[in-house]
Order: sequence, then structure tokens, then C-alpha cells
Amino acid sequence: VERHPADLLTAYVDDALPPEVAVGVAAHLAECEHCRTVADDLQAVRTLVRTLPEPVPAASLWSRTLARLAPAAPRPRRGRWWLAGAAAGAAGIAVVLHLPVPDLVAPRGGGAAAQWHLQRHAEAALEHPLADVTLATYLSGDLPYTTTVPDAGR
Ligand SMILES: [Zn+2]
Repeated sequence: VERHPADLLTAYVDDALPPEVAVGVAAHLAECEHCRTVADDLQAVRTLVRTLPEPVPAASLWSRTLARLAPAAPRPRRGRWWLAGAAAGAAGIAVVLHLPVPDLVAPRGGGAAAQWHLQRHAEAALEHPLADVTLATYLSGDLPYTTTVPDAGR
């Protein structure tokens, strides 16, 4: 190899080159001190990165997430009689769109309700990776599926 294979060295260090290319780079490294130094540096960085500790989320992450989600939880509705029809319609739409039919009763109360909805949302995201089921859609309430909250129960 006549030119310095600078653009191949990272892949070489990562052992990600096709064998026939790697052979050429190895032959060049045997002759070129400059590229050997670069490759050694890359190898050192690679090793150093692997010694870094895994990031640990703060203990307060979950409570802070719930606190942000609580105001976004759908408000209880009244008039359950039409919810049955709406639920049936939603179930039909969900079947057509291959979206999950959610549990019909969510717990009441900010924290529990938010956690319940977030769990449904996470399940939908797992089952439908191509659907727009992101945290942004959850927070905006623009959900690609339907959930029902029990009425206030007077
Ligand atoms: Zn070189």
C-alpha cells in the first residue's frame, strides 16, 4: 500500500475490515512508523473508552419523570354509556391498524395513572417499533392508540 491508509485505521483497530483489506493495512503498518503510531493511539483510546464506567441514572430520575408526566395524564371523563361504544369503535380501529387494544380501566390519581399510561405506552412502542409511539407523542397526548380512564365516579 503506497498511500497512508488513514481512513482505514479505525476500522482496522476495530477488526472491522474485510480480511483482504486488513492484510494490506497490516503490511503497510509493518513498514510505516507514522501509521503505526496513529494505530497505536487509536488502540489506546479504544482501550481507555472500555474502562469508563457505565453511566448510572440518578436515583431521582423515575420520580422526576413521573412528576413531569402526571399533568399530561388524560382527565377523567363522564358518561360511561358512550365509552362502551367508543371503546368498541377504538377496538375496531385498533384491529384495522394492528394496534393493541388497551386495558379499559386505568388507575386514578396522578402518579399511578401516569405510570399506568407510561407502561401502556412502552408496551405499544415495543410491539409497534415503526409506529410513532415516542415519549413526545405520549407527552403531547397525540397517541396512536386509545386508552380509557374511568369517570370521576360521583
Ligand atoms: Zn503510513
